[in-house]
Amino acid sequence: MIQKIAELSKLLNSSYSAKSILNSLHDFFADYFGVQKTELYTWDGTTSQLRDFSRNWLYIDDIFEKKIVAQYYKIYADLQERAEAKSSGGRLYFPLKKQSKYVGMIEFTGGHSDELVKFLEVSGDVISLKVQNIILNEKMQKNINFHDSMKNIAKIIETQYELNYIVPLIGEMFDKFVSNHLIYIFLKKDDSEEFSLVWPAACNDEKIYGLISILRSDSDCILTADKKTGVFPLVSEGKLFGCIVTKSMEGKLNDKEVDYIEQLTNQVATTINRANVYAEILKHATLDALTGFYNKRQLEERLKQEVSSARRQHQPLSVIMTDIDFFKGVNDTYGHAVGDLVLKTVSDVIRSQLREYDVAGRYGGEEFTILLPSAAIKDACMVAERLRKAVEKRMVDISKLTPEHKNINVTISLGVYQMQEGDEIPDLIIKADKALYEAKTGGRNKVVSALEVK
Ligand code: GH3
Ligand code: MG
Ligand code: MG
Repeated sequence: MIQKIAELSKLLNSSYSAKSILNSLHDFFADYFGVQKTELYTWDGTTSQLRDFSRNWLYIDDIFEKKIVAQYYKIYADLQERAEAKSSGGRLYFPLKKQSKYVGMIEFTGGHSDELVKFLEVSGDVISLKVQNIILNEKMQKNINFHDSMKNIAKIIETQYELNYIVPLIGEMFDKFVSNHLIYIFLKKDDSEEFSLVWPAACNDEKIYGLISILRSDSDCILTADKKTGVFPLVSEGKLFGCIVTKSMEGKLNDKEVDYIEQLTNQVATTINRANVYAEILKHATLDALTGFYNKRQLEERLKQEVSSARRQHQPLSVIMTDIDFFKGVNDTYGHAVGDLVLKTVSDVIRSQLREYDVAGRYGGEEFTILLPSAAIKDACMVAERLRKAVEKRMVDISKLTPEHKNINVTISLGVYQMQEGDEIPDLIIKADKALYEAKTGGRNKVVSALEVK
């Protein structure tokens, strides 16, 4: 007996997830007692429900039919009352206790014997303790994830104002935080009353559209009766401007999760509201705040001017489109603050390589456009190659932001085009962008010309 208990403790000590614990228990009881199947159910005090221990913490209601669920609850009540093993329907149930509180039960299918019951009476506490530890760990992890998410949003608020950039970040963060749920973000566009889906690309669930149509600015979150779908309104300064929808693929939302999501949603509402205010201010600005380059609107303005001036003076005009390689990886590995620093550094390197009358603009996230007046394709390709090398060589010291790292570098891909007769203004960008695309598919850290270089 003592040897078996030692063996069991050893197995449990080397298991760190609900699944591996259950596997260990299953193997152990199969080997020593000939049990065919071992299952574990735990009592969730917060929701007053029994949960399946290993299948991602599903409530057992979702696994079994209603009638069978009722039987499980009855057995559990019996175990609590009599505090001893109980046989039912060819199975053996054993109560799990933490001090004098009942926290769940083990179910054995087949092979049960007095010997097994005796063993459980002695070893039950060891199993209970391990199960409790895993449950606590899971709860702590959720707390940590929550606080990380809150911190992330706070950071985004400080540094970002482009909705196109923040919405996917928020979506991904919710995705990570509420696992096993589909997340949708809806916003009202330009003061219209209609909600438009902004993240992810599609939502085919008609029920969700029905639910959000009843949202009002003073609504609390709406939960469906089965607690699988939740609609969380985004309200700022008394105005309803969107909502976040979570739709479960498996378990229900419990009270704690609802509470967390409500707090996150409030934070998101503030972020998006700020972004809108910034966007309004920036409409009147000409420079991009992070890089100091022209912003997209101003860049388009400058492009028009340069095109007409080149035509008037019969001078060539070339365009370079450039995009940082694998930039998402930088954000994912080192965080967005490092991403921002890298962006700023790359823009500084580019600036240092250009002539005074060249025009550089931030076309989008980590994409820059450079206009080279009086440069034909050959010279433009040389400039592009110079930029490529300079960026590749430049080390960025990130130790102030992530002390465990020191220097990193990135590369850029570039597409080059020279204006041809008959080109419309947008053609310049489109053709340079096509060359950039080829540089990307051709291996990155490359210059590709959209024209034959003679
Ligand atoms: P590649 O271009 O080589 O195909 O790969 P990539 O990883 O660079 O791919 P993609 O262009 O799709 O990713 C661009 C990323 O840039 C996504 C976005 O999170 C990030 N980004 C855009 N704007 C900013 C910004 O202002 N700051 C930071 N830190 N990241 C940004
Ligand atoms: Mg990129
Ligand atoms: Mg890009």
